[in-house]
Amino acid sequence: MLKVVVVVGVPGVGKSSVLAVATKKLSERGYRVRLVNFGDYMLEYLRKSGVVKSRDQIRSLRLATQLEAQKVAARDIRSEFEALPGDRVIGIVDTHAVIKTQLGYWPGLPLAVLQELKPSVIVVIEASPDEILSRQLRDSGRYRADLSSRETIEELLQINRYYAIASSVISGAALRFIQNSEGCVEIAAEELIKVVEEI
Ligand code: AMP
Ligand code: MG
Repeated sequence: MLKVVVVVGVPGVGKSSVLAVATKKLSERGYRVRLVNFGDYMLEYLRKSGVVKSRDQIRSLRLATQLEAQKVAARDIRSEFEALPGDRVIGIVDTHAVIKTQLGYWPGLPLAVLQELKPSVIVVIEASPDEILSRQLRDSGRYRADLSSRETIEELLQINRYYAIASSVISGAALRFIQNSEGCVEIAAEELIKVVEEI
């Protein structure tokens, strides 16, 4: 049976690190795990049409364009998951409950996306504003100037919860909050594994 877990969190919260550890451990424990980054699928689609060169340009595009790429990404991810053979299959989606666009906050998990992905659970990875700030600064490969003031991070942490709750309600997926404290990636990863095992 395919189980889908959607993982969200404010940019810089350390989602990708937690997911890398959790994926490795789940594979070692006999699961067939496919970890995908939603932004990769959007980027691939938008790059082909020459609209953007980097992932951090996506959220500045016109919303109609982002919406089109979002739909393509959700569909492609679901069909990739469904093609995975085996009976202990876990699809993990690294994505966002909310995106800070130029127009305003915009849902990363609206009904159309949730109907494609069909997650059993939405996991929100959280950390303190200070931890997020310093992780963003360390990640030199990314452009996040539009997200990295303290006030923006504090607001995003709050807004992110509201959007995740809304996505849980409209989809019927469970919602879980996991702390990714400094130096404790392993603990966060273990908590995520427990969630997967309880589905
Ligand atoms: P990330 O690498 O996770 O920060 O994602 C890169 C970019 O992909 C984000 O800044 C968004 O523009 C876009 N993105 C990721 N997930 C979603 C989603 N579910 N809906 C819309 N845009 C998304
Ligand atoms: Mg990431």
